[in-house]
Amino acid sequence: MDATIKSIRPNKPSDRQPESRPAELDPSEFLAAAVRADQPRPARAEAEQAVKTLLAYIGENTNREGLLDTPRRVVEAFDELYQGYHQCPAEVLDRTFGETAGYDDFVLVRDIEFTSQCEHHMMPFYGKAHIAYTPVERVVGLSKLARLTDIFARRLQTQEHMTAQIAAAIDEILKPRGVAVLIEAEHTCMSVRGVAKHGASTFTSRFTGMFRDNPAEQARFLSLVRGLQR
Ligand SMILES: [Zn+2]
Repeated sequence: MDATIKSIRPNKPSDRQPESRPAELDPSEFLAAAVRADQPRPARAEAEQAVKTLLAYIGENTNREGLLDTPRRVVEAFDELYQGYHQCPAEVLDRTFGETAGYDDFVLVRDIEFTSQCEHHMMPFYGKAHIAYTPVERVVGLSKLARLTDIFARRLQTQEHMTAQIAAAIDEILKPRGVAVLIEAEHTCMSVRGVAKHGASTFTSRFTGMFRDNPAEQARFLSLVRGLQR
Protein backbone atom coordinates (compact mmCIF):
# COMPACT_ATOMS: atom_id res chain seq x y z
CA MET A 1 0.00 0.00 0.00
CA ASP A 2 1.25 3.44 -0.72
CA ALA A 3 -0.20 6.88 -0.42
CA THR A 4 -0.12 9.60 -3.00
CA ILE A 5 -0.88 13.16 -2.05
CA LYS A 6 -1.32 15.48 -4.99
CA SER A 7 -0.41 19.13 -5.07
CA ILE A 8 -2.89 21.77 -4.08
CA ARG A 9 -5.43 22.84 -6.70
CA PRO A 10 -8.08 25.50 -6.30
CA ASN A 11 -11.48 24.00 -5.51
CA LYS A 12 -14.71 25.60 -4.44
CA PRO A 13 -16.77 24.07 -1.62
CA SER A 14 -19.90 25.10 -3.54
CA ASP A 15 -19.18 22.29 -6.04
CA ARG A 16 -20.67 19.77 -3.65
CA GLN A 17 -24.25 18.76 -4.32
CA PRO A 18 -26.65 16.56 -2.41
CA GLU A 19 -27.10 13.13 -3.91
CA SER A 20 -29.56 10.32 -3.57
CA ARG A 21 -28.53 7.09 -1.91
CA PRO A 22 -29.68 3.61 -2.90
CA ALA A 23 -31.85 1.92 -0.28
CA GLU A 24 -29.22 -0.74 0.45
CA LEU A 25 -26.84 2.00 1.54
CA ASP A 26 -28.86 3.19 4.49
CA PRO A 27 -26.17 4.40 6.92
CA SER A 28 -27.81 2.68 9.89
CA GLU A 29 -27.28 -0.60 8.03
CA PHE A 30 -23.55 -0.36 7.56
CA LEU A 31 -22.04 2.27 9.85
CA ALA A 32 -22.55 0.31 13.04
CA ALA A 33 -21.15 -3.13 13.82
CA ALA A 34 -23.24 -5.64 11.87
CA VAL A 35 -23.94 -7.84 14.90
CA ARG A 36 -25.92 -6.41 17.79
CA ALA A 37 -24.85 -7.39 21.29
CA ASP A 38 -28.30 -8.84 22.02
CA GLN A 39 -28.58 -10.71 18.72
CA PRO A 40 -29.23 -14.43 19.26
CA ARG A 41 -26.50 -16.56 17.67
CA PRO A 42 -25.83 -20.32 17.69
CA ALA A 43 -23.33 -21.56 20.26
CA ARG A 44 -19.77 -22.34 19.15
CA ALA A 45 -20.41 -26.06 19.66
CA GLU A 46 -23.34 -25.85 17.24
CA ALA A 47 -21.15 -24.14 14.65
CA GLU A 48 -18.52 -26.88 15.04
CA GLN A 49 -21.24 -29.50 14.65
CA ALA A 50 -22.34 -27.81 11.41
CA VAL A 51 -18.77 -28.13 10.06
CA LYS A 52 -18.84 -31.80 11.00
CA THR A 53 -22.07 -32.18 9.05
CA LEU A 54 -20.45 -30.67 5.96
CA LEU A 55 -17.47 -33.03 6.35
CA ALA A 56 -19.83 -35.99 6.49
CA TYR A 57 -21.73 -34.59 3.51
CA ILE A 58 -18.64 -34.65 1.27
CA GLY A 59 -18.09 -38.26 2.29
CA GLU A 60 -15.44 -37.89 4.96
CA ASN A 61 -14.96 -40.02 8.02
CA THR A 62 -15.25 -37.30 10.65
CA ASN A 63 -13.58 -39.50 13.25
CA ARG A 64 -10.28 -39.95 11.45
CA GLU A 65 -7.35 -38.37 13.21
CA GLY A 66 -6.56 -35.64 10.69
CA LEU A 67 -10.07 -34.24 10.95
CA LEU A 68 -10.63 -34.36 14.71
CA ASP A 69 -9.68 -30.73 15.25
CA THR A 70 -10.93 -29.48 11.90
CA PRO A 71 -14.38 -28.26 13.06
CA ARG A 72 -12.71 -26.22 15.82
CA ARG A 73 -10.13 -24.79 13.37
CA VAL A 74 -12.77 -23.90 10.78
CA VAL A 75 -14.86 -22.03 13.34
CA GLU A 76 -11.74 -20.18 14.54
CA ALA A 77 -10.94 -19.28 10.94
CA PHE A 78 -14.51 -17.99 10.57
CA ASP A 79 -14.02 -15.82 13.65
CA GLU A 80 -11.05 -14.23 11.92
CA LEU A 81 -12.42 -14.01 8.38
CA TYR A 82 -15.71 -12.54 9.55
CA GLN A 83 -14.56 -10.28 12.38
CA GLY A 84 -15.89 -7.31 10.40
CA TYR A 85 -19.39 -8.12 11.70
CA HIS A 86 -18.25 -7.02 15.14
CA GLN A 87 -16.39 -3.91 14.05
CA CYS A 88 -17.84 -0.48 13.59
CA PRO A 89 -16.93 1.52 10.46
CA ALA A 90 -18.05 4.77 12.09
CA GLU A 91 -15.53 4.34 14.92
CA VAL A 92 -12.62 3.92 12.52
CA LEU A 93 -13.29 7.24 10.83
CA ASP A 94 -14.17 8.97 14.07
CA ARG A 95 -10.82 10.54 14.76
CA THR A 96 -10.07 13.33 12.32
CA PHE A 97 -7.44 16.04 12.10
CA GLY A 98 -8.15 19.66 11.38
CA GLU A 99 -4.64 20.84 10.55
CA THR A 100 -4.75 20.57 6.78
CA ALA A 101 -2.69 23.71 6.09
CA GLY A 102 -5.13 24.71 3.36
CA TYR A 103 -4.79 21.36 1.57
CA ASP A 104 -7.73 21.10 -0.77
CA ASP A 105 -6.97 18.47 -3.38
CA PHE A 106 -7.92 14.82 -3.07
CA VAL A 107 -6.02 12.34 -0.95
CA LEU A 108 -5.45 8.99 -2.63
CA VAL A 109 -4.49 5.76 -0.90
CA ARG A 110 -3.68 3.19 -3.51
CA ASP A 111 -3.12 -0.57 -3.51
CA ILE A 112 -4.89 -1.44 -0.26
CA GLU A 113 -4.75 -5.22 -0.32
CA PHE A 114 -7.76 -7.11 1.00
CA THR A 115 -9.32 -10.56 1.08
CA SER A 116 -13.06 -10.94 1.38
CA GLN A 117 -15.55 -13.81 1.01
CA CYS A 118 -18.26 -13.79 -1.63
CA GLU A 119 -21.75 -14.04 -0.23
CA HIS A 120 -22.88 -16.45 -2.95
CA HIS A 121 -20.33 -19.23 -2.39
CA MET A 122 -18.45 -18.21 0.78
CA MET A 123 -15.25 -18.43 -1.25
CA PRO A 124 -12.49 -15.83 -1.13
CA PHE A 125 -12.09 -12.96 -3.50
CA TYR A 126 -9.03 -10.81 -3.11
CA GLY A 127 -7.36 -7.84 -4.68
CA LYS A 128 -6.71 -4.16 -4.15
CA ALA A 129 -8.80 -1.16 -3.26
CA HIS A 130 -7.90 2.37 -4.31
CA ILE A 131 -9.62 5.11 -2.37
CA ALA A 132 -9.59 8.87 -2.80
CA TYR A 133 -11.51 11.58 -1.03
CA THR A 134 -11.34 15.36 -1.07
CA PRO A 135 -11.44 16.58 2.52
CA VAL A 136 -13.39 19.57 3.70
CA GLU A 137 -11.35 20.95 6.60
CA ARG A 138 -10.82 17.59 8.28
CA VAL A 139 -8.75 14.56 7.24
CA VAL A 140 -8.35 11.06 8.66
CA GLY A 141 -5.14 9.14 9.23
CA LEU A 142 -4.27 7.33 6.00
CA SER A 143 -4.24 3.92 7.69
CA LYS A 144 -7.91 4.41 8.56
CA LEU A 145 -8.95 3.94 4.94
CA ALA A 146 -7.18 0.58 4.98
CA ARG A 147 -8.88 -0.32 8.28
CA LEU A 148 -12.25 0.65 6.84
CA THR A 149 -11.62 -1.57 3.81
CA ASP A 150 -10.77 -4.49 6.10
CA ILE A 151 -13.95 -4.12 8.13
CA PHE A 152 -16.14 -4.38 5.06
CA ALA A 153 -13.92 -7.09 3.53
CA ARG A 154 -14.29 -9.24 6.65
CA ARG A 155 -17.99 -9.69 6.07
CA LEU A 156 -19.76 -11.73 3.41
CA GLN A 157 -19.74 -9.48 0.41
CA THR A 158 -20.26 -8.84 -3.22
CA GLN A 159 -17.52 -6.72 -4.73
CA GLU A 160 -20.13 -4.23 -5.89
CA HIS A 161 -21.57 -3.80 -2.40
CA MET A 162 -18.18 -3.51 -0.78
CA THR A 163 -17.22 -0.75 -3.22
CA ALA A 164 -20.43 1.15 -2.54
CA GLN A 165 -20.22 0.69 1.23
CA ILE A 166 -16.68 2.04 1.48
CA ALA A 167 -17.65 5.12 -0.53
CA ALA A 168 -20.87 5.65 1.43
CA ALA A 169 -19.15 5.32 4.81
CA ILE A 170 -16.53 7.93 3.93
CA ASP A 171 -19.21 10.17 2.46
CA GLU A 172 -21.46 9.87 5.48
CA ILE A 173 -18.85 10.37 8.17
CA LEU A 174 -16.25 12.71 6.70
CA LYS A 175 -18.66 14.64 4.46
CA PRO A 176 -15.92 15.26 1.92
CA ARG A 177 -16.36 17.04 -1.42
CA GLY A 178 -16.24 13.65 -3.09
CA VAL A 179 -15.15 10.04 -2.82
CA ALA A 180 -13.70 7.73 -5.48
CA VAL A 181 -13.34 4.00 -4.89
CA LEU A 182 -11.95 1.53 -7.41
CA ILE A 183 -11.64 -2.15 -6.51
CA GLU A 184 -9.95 -4.79 -8.62
CA ALA A 185 -10.25 -8.40 -7.50
CA GLU A 186 -9.97 -12.03 -8.47
CA HIS A 187 -12.81 -14.28 -7.38
CA THR A 188 -11.92 -17.84 -6.47
CA CYS A 189 -15.55 -18.87 -7.02
CA MET A 190 -14.78 -18.10 -10.65
CA SER A 191 -11.15 -19.23 -10.81
CA VAL A 192 -11.26 -22.59 -9.00
CA ARG A 193 -14.89 -23.60 -9.63
CA GLY A 194 -17.65 -22.65 -12.08
CA VAL A 195 -16.04 -21.41 -15.29
CA ALA A 196 -12.59 -21.98 -13.70
CA LYS A 197 -10.91 -18.99 -15.31
CA HIS A 198 -7.70 -18.03 -13.56
CA GLY A 199 -6.41 -14.51 -13.67
CA ALA A 200 -9.65 -12.79 -14.65
CA SER A 201 -10.00 -9.49 -12.81
CA THR A 202 -13.23 -7.82 -11.87
CA PHE A 203 -13.28 -4.03 -11.56
CA THR A 204 -15.89 -2.03 -9.69
CA SER A 205 -15.96 1.68 -9.00
CA ARG A 206 -18.04 4.25 -7.22
CA PHE A 207 -17.79 8.01 -7.50
CA THR A 208 -19.60 10.56 -5.39
CA GLY A 209 -19.63 14.35 -5.20
CA MET A 210 -16.99 16.05 -7.32
CA PHE A 211 -15.75 12.71 -8.70
CA ARG A 212 -19.24 11.85 -9.90
CA ASP A 213 -19.94 15.31 -11.27
CA ASN A 214 -16.60 16.10 -12.85
CA PRO A 215 -15.26 13.63 -15.44
CA ALA A 216 -11.87 15.37 -15.34
CA GLU A 217 -11.48 14.54 -11.62
CA GLN A 218 -12.53 10.96 -12.30
CA ALA A 219 -9.94 10.73 -15.06
CA ARG A 220 -7.25 12.22 -12.84
CA PHE A 221 -8.06 9.65 -10.12
CA LEU A 222 -7.99 6.77 -12.60
CA SER A 223 -4.74 7.88 -14.21
CA LEU A 224 -3.06 8.14 -10.80
CA VAL A 225 -4.32 4.67 -9.89
CA ARG A 226 -3.36 3.08 -13.19
CA GLY A 227 -0.50 5.24 -14.36
CA LEU A 228 2.00 5.03 -11.56
CA GLN A 229 1.25 1.44 -10.84
CA ARG A 230 2.45 -0.95 -13.50
ZN1 LIG B 1 -19.03 -16.33 -5.54
